[in-house]
Amino acid sequence: MPKRSINTRPDRRGHFGPYGGMYVPETLMAPLEELAREYGRLRRDREFRDELKYYLRHYVGRPTPLYFAERMTRELGTARIYLKREDLCHTGAHKINNALGQALLARRMGKQRIIAETGAGQHGVATATVAAMFGLECVIYMGRVDMERQALNVFRMESLGAEVVPVTAGQQTLKEAISEAMRDWVTRVRDTHYVLGSVLGAHPYPLMVRDFQSVIGREARSQCRRIIGRLPSHLVACVGGGSNALGLFHPFLQDRRVRMTGVEAGGRGVRPGQHAARFATGRLGVLQGTRTFILQDRHGQIATTHSVSAGLDYAAVGPEHSLLRDLKRVEYTHVTDREAVRAFEALGQWEGILPALEPAHAIAYVIKKAAQWSKNDVVLINLSGRGDKDVREVADWKQRERKGRKGSS
Ligand SMILES: *Cc1c(COP(=O)(O)O)cnc(C)c1O
Repeated sequence: MPKRSINTRPDRRGHFGPYGGMYVPETLMAPLEELAREYGRLRRDREFRDELKYYLRHYVGRPTPLYFAERMTRELGTARIYLKREDLCHTGAHKINNALGQALLARRMGKQRIIAETGAGQHGVATATVAAMFGLECVIYMGRVDMERQALNVFRMESLGAEVVPVTAGQQTLKEAISEAMRDWVTRVRDTHYVLGSVLGAHPYPLMVRDFQSVIGREARSQCRRIIGRLPSHLVACVGGGSNALGLFHPFLQDRRVRMTGVEAGGRGVRPGQHAARFATGRLGVLQGTRTFILQDRHGQIATTHSVSAGLDYAAVGPEHSLLRDLKRVEYTHVTDREAVRAFEALGQWEGILPALEPAHAIAYVIKKAAQWSKNDVVLINLSGRGDKDVREVADWKQRERKGRKGSS
């Protein structure tokens, strides 16, 4: 661990060391600069912060509990395990912390219309939810393939009054939906704010989304002090774009004795097209506005990715994570689909809590590596969302497994 303090404050153009930045067409520079300026002003504005705090408390349901997982602790027989219960947020995941912050920002900027992209639909649902609450017009871009896979979330968004626009370019999934949302934003920037869902994209999004999610770590830090009487030995979170992980980690960055691990999707194994572990085989590149670690093929084309959890299934990782990895402040690893599905059921049966398949990756890491800790250690896992949305996915996965085994015997 380096001795000097950890500084990940980006420069004026949003560079986290060699990562991040604003790699966008000329037409997007003006709206991004306006957003960076307005956000820079509002993040220090007392009234804005009080307003955000009010809705986080009374609408989202914060603070979320820090729960001692007693049976899981007993089963593993090493560290004491605590869960930060983001699954208890309104709409069932941490995504609403950011969607709410950005909707308030849009309102302050006088924008009547908000747009967003969504892959699995969780960010789309969170955005449609806060848009309804504030009476803003809402359009969600979603790949046609994702719309079919996540029909229930499409129905949720439409029931909340949002328009869901199918995107039919390319692989018809998240990457194409982001591009389409950017195109919309360019043409209607006067009345529209684009709510990006993770610590990705051009500046100021990685900074802004991290700030809005840091409420997780601020609460967790003071809950640890109060409930356990000390800071945890180790923080663990799953990393898709990386917003729930950064939200938890950030307020602990200067606490040198707190170790941190980010868990990526190892999918069916780290082979081309079968995973989304950017730090395992990714290379430096630019995707959708930011410079970071990206899964690419030999020719520099964006690789196809796979994960049983849609929220971890993206070719790029947030730029601040790339810097934290260089600084050796956070370790990154990955677990497979199979390990995540097993952890989904293990937590259900030990604690009566079905985690989303994304944080099931973090649970799986803790189960697998439990022997590294002793009884004096405290491990805090970010339970970023609830598993109801994934019950069907797990059932299908298990059925495929059974068929696969039969086929090979
Ligand atoms: C979207 C999602 C993730 C992945 O996104 P991050 O930005 O990496 O947090 C993780 N967990 C849940 C429950 C999600 O919905």
